[in-house]
Formats: sequence, structure tokens, C-alpha cells
Amino acid sequence: MEWLTKTETITHPSMSEMDLERQAEAIIPTPWGNFRMLAYAASEAEWMPHLALVHEDYKAGQPALVRVHSECITGDLFSSKRCDCGEQLHYAIEMIAREKGILLYLRQEGRGIGIINKLKAYQLQDQGLNTIDANLHLGLEVDARQYGIAVAMLADLGVSQIRLLTNNPEKVSALDLSEVEIIARVPIIISPQKDNASYLKTKQQQMGHLFDLFE
Ligand SMILES: [Zn+2]
Repeated sequence: MEWLTKTETITHPSMSEMDLERQAEAIIPTPWGNFRMLAYAASEAEWMPHLALVHEDYKAGQPALVRVHSECITGDLFSSKRCDCGEQLHYAIEMIAREKGILLYLRQEGRGIGIINKLKAYQLQDQGLNTIDANLHLGLEVDARQYGIAVAMLADLGVSQIRLLTNNPEKVSALDLSEVEIIARVPIIISPQKDNASYLKTKQQQMGHLFDLFE
């Protein structure tokens, strides 16, 4: 576990919400509808800006359906079955498109330790250290830093009331401490698969995530 402790001290330049500014934006047509994509970073030289996808019909000033999603390239892009990130992302995009809401996509793969360390962790897991993968993902989700970034982005977008798409009570209580008001928690319903059942079980039993695995 020594390397896990060590990586905790690594911080990504874009992790700080202090200097986050809107750098660029454009309409992105997707299979789920048209979204305005906005890139947030401390400078436009940042190659991994945080992203907001705002549905083109989102009405400013109204409570928004919001998903705060932390990057998981293996799950989001390649539909890895080691976790449920990709499924959660696509479930969220569909709901957000339907309800004209907002997706915040935070670029902090594995709590900012990056894909290299995550692949190393997967390899260790395959060698029998099966808590490492869960630790990485769970660590990513309990990290308070992501909420500051999300709050800064929502403030820039003029959003003060949200309905939060999450199964994670930590996310609700962290955001509740900010100026963003959560008027509802909207669950994400995922059916477990063979390869991620134990990961989901850890999330549920050790992290208090709110879902029924056997539905
Ligand atoms: Zn994942």
C-alpha cells in the first residue's frame, strides 16, 4: 500500500479550483442532443481542462439536473467492466439530455494520479491484491477537491440549485456545505455485471453508496 500513500501527494495543476476560468466553448452535437461544451482551466495552455456539457435548451436560473463525473478513461471511453463509471456516465448523459441539464466532467483520473498508476493498480489487483482497484476508485470519489471544482464551475454557469445525479451520499453532503443548494438526489440505476460485482459491493458496503445490487 506504500505507493498509494505516496501518490496522494501528487497534485495535478488543474486540481485547484482557485484559478479556474472559462477558456473556450462550442456546441457539440451528440447522439443524445446538442450540448454547449465549456472548458475550464487556470490557463488556455492546459491540455486537460475540466469540461461542462450544458444542454442547449437548459434554462438558466432553473434548478438543473447535474452529474459531477470524475474521469475514468478505461470505463468512460472503453467501457471497461472493472468498474461502473462508463455505465454511470451514459446513464447520466441520457437523463441529462432528457431533462436539459448539465454534466460536469472532471479531469482527475484516479484522484489525479493518472492512468499509469491506475493500470499498475489493476495489474496488482490481477496478482491478488484485490483491494487496490477499489481503493483507487473509492479514493477518487471521496476526495473533497472535486467538489470545489464543481462548485466553481456551477457558479460560473449561474447555477445555484441542482438535482444531483449520484448514488454517493458523500457527494451530497460535500456539496451541501457549499453555496450550491441540492434540492434532490436522483439515483443512477446500474445492473451489476460479472466483472464489477465485487467492486460495486465494496462501494455499497464500505462507502455507503445507495443502490440495490440485486434489483
Ligand atoms: Zn472507473
